[in-house]
Order: sequence, then structure tokens, then C-alpha cells
Amino acid sequence: MQETDALRDARHELEVCNACRYCEGFCAVFPAVNLRRAFSAGEVSYLANLCHGCRGCFYACQYAPPHEWGINVPRRLAQVRAQSYAEYAWPPALARAFERNGVVVAGAVAAGIALVLLLTVGFVPDAALYGAHAVVPGAFYRVIPLWAMQAVGLVTFLFSLLALGMGAARFWKDAGGRGKITLAAVAAALHDVATLKNLGGGGGGCNDNSERFSMRRRRLHHAMMYGFLLCFAATCVGFFYDSFLGWAAPYPFFSLPVLLGTIGGIGLLVGTFGLFAMKLVDDPMPAARELLGADVALLGLLFFAALTGLALLALRGTGAMGVALAVHLGVILALFVTLPYSKMVHGVYRGAALLRSAIEKRAGVG
Ligand code: SF4
Ligand code: SF4
Repeated sequence: MQETDALRDARHELEVCNACRYCEGFCAVFPAVNLRRAFSAGEVSYLANLCHGCRGCFYACQYAPPHEWGINVPRRLAQVRAQSYAEYAWPPALARAFERNGVVVAGAVAAGIALVLLLTVGFVPDAALYGAHAVVPGAFYRVIPLWAMQAVGLVTFLFSLLALGMGAARFWKDAGGRGKITLAAVAAALHDVATLKNLGGGGGGCNDNSERFSMRRRRLHHAMMYGFLLCFAATCVGFFYDSFLGWAAPYPFFSLPVLLGTIGGIGLLVGTFGLFAMKLVDDPMPAARELLGADVALLGLLFFAALTGLALLALRGTGAMGVALAVHLGVILALFVTLPYSKMVHGVYRGAALLRSAIEKRAGVG
């Protein structure tokens, strides 16, 4: 990580916290701070990505604004997180995608829809595209061939996995630290990811806009995260059915991929809409403006992925199926392409930071 004003400000506040220690039990960040006497740039980045932005330490802090010290740990760490997303991006030439991330992601969605629609309209006969469709095996592939869906999906998804993996490796190397990866540490980190324990802050949840604790953000994030995972599971099951069992989509409503996708899609809609609505009323003081565009862009992207998927489910037996399929695949293409260049990276770095924290707790790093 480069030394920047944001990084220096965050380091200064962490040093104050190290002397104060009032927030020790709030989350994983403060015990990790207390294990250190000095903070390298990589360690500040690690602590920034360990922070879940629950804001508990902002409302509890006796040195927060209007105090002259103006301590604002959630904002400082969010600013460093924003910097880290760009610095660990792979290939580095694409780091600029994080500069105006909202515009980049919105542009990718528009380009993805336009590209798939143009190719579909250009190559698919009108009768197949606009004619009445029945929900019978292979109906989707008369509009967009299976090989095209699988080839584009696999290439973009595998590239995104590689880019995310390279970013995680850069983050891990920069974060430094000692201790070995053990099964117990991996299990502890997975538990923290699955339960979002660190969104508990200093009490019963987050402080969205005041000292009052609320579980709203944690629940909405769960709806979004598990909704996404269910939709991903639906895609994998569909891929397995098609590729290995020869069962062609679309599948009946009461089939595993459709049930997983429907429940996941509803979870994504509820989670993303709720989190967006919360942004409209949140206290902006502990937030970082640098991340607002990326936040909103990711929520919008996931919302439209779910909305177009559910619309396709509703319209698959009608003459609108062809266009609905092209639009949905255009959004999914944008989602796959922008995965490593959107705020989605926070899941990877935060998961890696939780693993680093679990290792440190067991190794007693000092
Ligand atoms: S956030 Fe404020 S109260 Fe909490 S440890 Fe830091 S300085 Fe102390
Ligand atoms: S997770 Fe919450 S309590 Fe911990 S540093 Fe971040 S905002 Fe503060």
C-alpha cells in the first residue's frame, strides 16, 4: 500500500485507539490493533478490511467530532479500504475502474445488455425470438445456443476468479503477519463470515444513524449474501444438469435450480433494496464518500440481476421470453466481468482479513 493522507490519518487514529482501548470488545479490529505497537501500510490495510463499518466505535468514542481530535475510525478505515481495492486490483492497469466505480459498473451493465440484445436480434430469426414460447426443455437454446452461454459464462467467470485470487494474494502478502493457516483458524473465519459477527459492533447490531443499535443492516446483508449464494448454486446446478445429465433448461418451477434461484432472487431483491434505502437515511458522518458510488453500483447490479432473473421466470412461457433472456444474460455478463472491479472485492479481502485475525489470535502475534 502506498503512503497516502488517508493511510496516515488512519494510522494516527489507530495509535490513539491503542492508547485508549475503550472499544476493545467491539469487533475484531481493536484486539488486532492492541497486538501491535506500530502499523505498517500493509497492516493498516489489513485492519481497514477487517472493519465491517458497523459504526459502533464512532458513537461510543469520546474523541469523535465535535471533539477537537475528531476521531472517526469507521470513516478513516473506509477511506483506506477504498484505496486498497484499487491498489490490489489485478491486472494493475484496471485499477482505474475503482476511480469512478459507479459509472464503470453502470456502463458495463448497459454495454452487456446492448451487446447481448444486438447479437440476439442480429442472429436469431424473428420467429424464434418473438414467437410464443412454451416451457419445454431446450426453449432457451433456440434463442441463445447453450454453447454460447457456457463458453462466454465460463471464460468471463474464470477470468474474474483469477483476478480476485491475484488481488487476494496481493492483499495477503501486504498484510504480513506471522502464524500458520490452520483448520481451526479457517473454521473460525468461515464462522465470522457466515454470521457477520463483526456487524454486532459494541452491542446488539450496528449504529446506522445514532447511538441506537439495530440488527437491520446485518439481516439485510444476510438476505443479500445468502440470496447471491443461492442464485450462484442455482446456476451451478443448472450447469450440471445441462452438461452432465443432458437435462435442458428451462426446468419446472418445482425443480432444484428454479427453487434455489427464486428464493435467492427474492433474498437479493430484499437485501439490496433495503441496504440502498438505508443509505438514504444513514448518518453520513462516519461514512466515506469515496465508497458511495461503488456501494450503490454493486447494490444496483445485484438488484437488476435478481429482477431480470425473476422476470425471465415469469415471462418464460410468453413471446417476451427471448428479449427477457437476452436482457438477463446481458446483466449477468456485466456481473461476471465487473466482479473483480466492483465493491464485490470487499467480500474477498474481508474474508482474508478475518482469516488473518483468526490466525493471529491463535498465534498470539505481538
Ligand atoms: S474509537 Fe475512540 S473510544 Fe474507541 S478506542 Fe478509539 S479513541 Fe478510544
Ligand atoms: S467494525 Fe465497527 S466497531 Fe469495529 S472498527 Fe469498524 S466501525 Fe468500529
